[in-house]
Amino acid sequence: MKIYNYQNLSKADIQKLISRNVDSGNEIREKVQQIIAEVKTNGDAALKNFALQFDKVELPSLFIEKNKIDQLANGISEEVKQAINVAYSNIKKFHESQISKEQKLETTTGVTCWRESRAIERVGLYIPGGTAVLPSTFLMLGIPAKIAGCKEIVVCSPPQKSGEVNGYLAYVAQLLEIDKIYLVGGAQAVAAMAYGTESIPKVDKIFGPGNQYVTMAKTLVQSTTNTAIDMPAGPSEVLVIADETANPVFVAADLLAQCEHGVDSQAVLVSTSKKIIDQTLTELDKQLEILPRKEIAAKAIENSYSVLVKDLEEAMIFSNENAPEHLILATDSWKTITDKIINAGSVFAGNLTPESAGDYASGTNHTLPTSAYARSYSGVSLDSFIKKITFQHINEMGIKNLGPTIETLAEIEGLQAHKNAVSLRLAEIKE
Ligand code: NAD
Repeated sequence: MKIYNYQNLSKADIQKLISRNVDSGNEIREKVQQIIAEVKTNGDAALKNFALQFDKVELPSLFIEKNKIDQLANGISEEVKQAINVAYSNIKKFHESQISKEQKLETTTGVTCWRESRAIERVGLYIPGGTAVLPSTFLMLGIPAKIAGCKEIVVCSPPQKSGEVNGYLAYVAQLLEIDKIYLVGGAQAVAAMAYGTESIPKVDKIFGPGNQYVTMAKTLVQSTTNTAIDMPAGPSEVLVIADETANPVFVAADLLAQCEHGVDSQAVLVSTSKKIIDQTLTELDKQLEILPRKEIAAKAIENSYSVLVKDLEEAMIFSNENAPEHLILATDSWKTITDKIINAGSVFAGNLTPESAGDYASGTNHTLPTSAYARSYSGVSLDSFIKKITFQHINEMGIKNLGPTIETLAEIEGLQAHKNAVSLRLAEIKE
C-alpha cells in the first residue's frame, strides 16, 4: 500500500487520490445501457438469459414464494437465527426512533401549514448476492420499508448456483413477512424494477447497494424513468483516521474488512504517526495471508493508500475532501474531532468501535453513499421510504390577512388568474 505525506501533496494530487471514478472509459455505462434496453424490450425472457449468462443458472421460474422461503429458512441453524434476531431487533429500534410527527404552524393568523408523512407505495429492494450474499442488506432495507408502511415491497437478489436464494435471505424474508423473492441480480434487476416485466412489478423507488453494474443501472434509470433511487451506493470504502492511541491490529482488520467486499473496494488510512502506519501495514500483510477472501482483498488493497498527516485536524481536512462512505476514528480523542466532520456516510468513533458493527447489528443502516456522494447524500433511513406532503388551511381571518400580499405578488408576476383566486374570495367575504 502506497504511503503519501500530506505536506508533499499538491491540490491536484489530492484530487487524483480521492477520485473514485472507476468507469472513466464509459465501458460499464455502455454495457449497462444495453442490459437495460434488452430488459425493456424482452422482459422476463431477457432476465432468464442474463441469469444464464452472468449467474450461470437456468431458471424455470424468476421467483420463489412462501413455501420455498419457509423450507429454505428452516434449514439454517438456531445460532444464526439468534444472531439475525438480535440484528433485526437493534436495527428496528434505531429506525423506529426516526418516526417523527411535525407540529402544525400558524404562519399568519388564520393561515395554518403542516406536513404529513406518507409511505412510498411501491419500493424495490436490491439485495447483493454476487460474490457474497448479504442478508444484512435485506434487514437494512426491509426493516425501514416495513416501519414506513410501504404497500408493495419487491425484492430482487441474484440466483445462487442452486437456482434459489440462500437460507439466510429466506429467514430474513420470514421475519419481514415478505412472501416472494425475485431471482434476478445486477443491472437487469434494476431495469426490471424500473420498467416492470411480465413477472416483476414496476416500483416507485429502488434501494440497495451493489457492484458497479447495479450502481450504474440505478443512476441511468433515475434519469430515464419516473423511478427514484436511494443513492448511488457502489463499491464499499472506508477511511480510518488513526493517531498514536490507535491499535494497529484493529486498524488492519478494519481496512481488510472493507477490502474483502470486492476487488473495487477501497481502504484509506490517514495517520498522524508513521509508526502506526508501518505497524498497521505489517499487520495487514499478516492478517491478509489467512483470509478466505484473500485474493479479492489483495486486489482491493491495490486501490488503497495511506496518508501521513501532522495532526488530527489535518486528517479531518483530508477526510472531508475524500467524503468516505465509512469513517473510523481510531483515536481516544475522537470526541475532539466529531464536530469537524462535514462529509461522511457513517462514523465509527473510538478504538473499540469496528465498522462491522454498523454493517450488521448495532442498529444504524449500512446502505451508504460511496464515491464521495457523502458530500450531498445521506445513508438509507426511515426517511428514505417516506414522502412528506405539505398541507395548509386558511380561514376567513387568514384570507383577509394574507390575501392582499398574494394579490400584490401575483400582480407583479403578471398572473391575473392567481390574483383573481384571492380577490374573488375576498369580495365574497365582504358581501
Ligand atoms: P451484486 O449483487 O451487486 O452483483 C452481482 C450481479 O452482477 C450478478 O448477478 C450479475 O448479474 C451482475 N454481473 C456480474 N458480472 C457481470 C458482468 N461482467 N457484466 C454485467 N453484469 C455482471 O454482488 P457483488 O458483485 O458481490 O457486489 C456487491 C457490492 O455491493 C460490492 O461492491 C460491495 O462493496 C457493495 N456493497 C455496498 C454497500 C454500500 O452501502 N455502499 C453495502 C454492501 C455492499
